Amino acid sequence: MFKIRYSPYKLNMKHVFRIARGSRISTPLILTAIQFEDVVGYGEASMPPLYGETQETAIRFISKVDLSGFNDPLDIEGIMNYVDGIDIGNSAAKASIDIALHDLAGKIAGKPCYKLLNLSGVKSISTSRTISIDTPGIIKERVLEAKDFQFLKLKLGSDNDIEIVKAVREVSNQPLFVDANQGWKDKNLALENIDWLKEQDVIFIEQPMPVDMEDEMAWLKSKSPLPIVGDEGVQRLKDVEKAVDFYHGINIKLVKSTGLNEGLKMAKLAKKLDLKVMLGCMSETSCAISAAFHLASLADWIDLDGNLGITNNPYKGIETIGGKLINNDIPGIGLVNPESYWDGV
Ligand code: MG
Repeated sequence: MFKIRYSPYKLNMKHVFRIARGSRISTPLILTAIQFEDVVGYGEASMPPLYGETQETAIRFISKVDLSGFNDPLDIEGIMNYVDGIDIGNSAAKASIDIALHDLAGKIAGKPCYKLLNLSGVKSISTSRTISIDTPGIIKERVLEAKDFQFLKLKLGSDNDIEIVKAVREVSNQPLFVDANQGWKDKNLALENIDWLKEQDVIFIEQPMPVDMEDEMAWLKSKSPLPIVGDEGVQRLKDVEKAVDFYHGINIKLVKSTGLNEGLKMAKLAKKLDLKVMLGCMSETSCAISAAFHLASLADWIDLDGNLGITNNPYKGIETIGGKLINNDIPGIGLVNPESYWDGV
């Protein structure tokens, strides 16, 4: 018998997080726990307001999940097909079920998730550290705090992009990922920006233009001297094939993909289509970050730092040391004593 529990949680951030489309200081979450016999797996839904899900919609969705028709906790594909069919949307809520099921199945099988998924896994891997939009002075401070990281991910798409990049370059030579979060609305200006950024040791540009500007995006892809990665424009498996028209790569996030089951399919299809794979995240606890780590061997670029900018992480899991996520080979997604949070719920 499966038993599902959930707990609303407000994740507080160390600093105001500002991107082209708004800013916030906290992120609403739902933490989940799925028990089968005496084993418990843990999951999480992170719901930044821009994506449309809330704690209320997630609770409503999770309350509808009835696993009484299932008796094999290793049948994640079957269970997730059922969960996905309950309602459209609700990707983060679905991911919270998927992640908990993977944690549960890994613990039952005695395997870390990457082995459960028949992936080779990695011992350790570099993640970028995200620097959100701010004044040049504060940006320089944040960059200096991130000197251990091999890559920085800069949020651009603001009115002073050039000033931001120059501020970074005054204090750092670290190669950059750039995420414009749809902030560039003119294709010629976008190309001009990318041409300039290429000279600043930028590796790729994430979501330069609004997702509905399809003709402009296709044009920009054909001209861009740097790879373009789709994030807001690539949510789920059904979006991957079309991504080839606009992007050189895709950013897979478990909250968008409904978790590891579909995220893995997205990564495999992307590779088949010769698309680069980036693994991304939201502001998240170590639960969702640890889960995503298990897909690392399929990724070209890793941006799994959402647990580093928060002040109240309820979990300890895959740790980031010296800018690298370090495998701990714990069965499941890799959390250490996660039940201590739930004792207080
Ligand atoms: Mg992005």
